Amino acid sequence: MTKDRLITRRKALLIGAAALGTAATAGTERLLTVDDPTRSVRSTAVIQGPQARASLRASAFRLQPLTDGPARHLPARTAVRHEPIRSMPGRGRTMVLTFDDGPDPTYTPGILRTLRAYGVRAVFFVCGEMAVQHKDLLREMADDGHSVGNHTWTHPLLTTLPRSRIRAELERTSEVIEDGCGEAPLWFRAPYGAWNRTVFRLVAELGMEPIAWTRDTRDWTAPGTRTIVHRVEEGAAPGVIVLSHDAGGDRSQSVRALRAYLPYLLDRGYQIALPARQFT
Ligand SMILES: [Zn+2]
Repeated sequence: MTKDRLITRRKALLIGAAALGTAATAGTERLLTVDDPTRSVRSTAVIQGPQARASLRASAFRLQPLTDGPARHLPARTAVRHEPIRSMPGRGRTMVLTFDDGPDPTYTPGILRTLRAYGVRAVFFVCGEMAVQHKDLLREMADDGHSVGNHTWTHPLLTTLPRSRIRAELERTSEVIEDGCGEAPLWFRAPYGAWNRTVFRLVAELGMEPIAWTRDTRDWTAPGTRTIVHRVEEGAAPGVIVLSHDAGGDRSQSVRALRAYLPYLLDRGYQIALPARQFT
């Protein structure tokens, strides 16, 4: 059901998404613009480590909790950005691999196996409605040291939704991630790359950073394993964030492609790393 819905939405929104979300030309300096520099400094001080996080008061802006467990502790609010992060420059020959829309029991385990074989960590931007059904995979991601990011609950085009719906999409998903991984997500990626001011503000409220991508493999069009491999290898450069998918349709090409381009990147001297939180 979920996969079919994702596919249908993806087809329906393809044209709109291309117009909305692919302007990947913003300069890094714009990415680091903040509304209030003093707040970002404070964020730097409190975001470090579980002890600091545990001292934060429970959020007053949550929806009703999913369970009656102990009070949750959100990461500190982050500064509101005006653009998502689209690359991770300045860290040497480092690249970031990201996998969206899962977890999916058919494809995610294969991705995890390959990453594990090479001792590499990646970011999985999960959808809440998938994650809530596959918490075992969330746990596996966390146990392997991967970062689990928030990709909304139902993968909607957020720019068409009222603020209350956007908030619910983000909050519910953060809660499921925290339940499954033991830690609330630090990163958010908008479906279809569709951002607006409301999304940026809510992402900051929930303690996440908005992140997009540098290199889109367009693997969801199933262009063939070799094409996906070529797109990653051709686009390889320091700071590049690669977008792939481990759910939302037949992702067997994405699984196979990773087995080819990952050793290639490592042989070329790239380090595959998790994104670093950047505060100005
Ligand atoms: Zn997606």
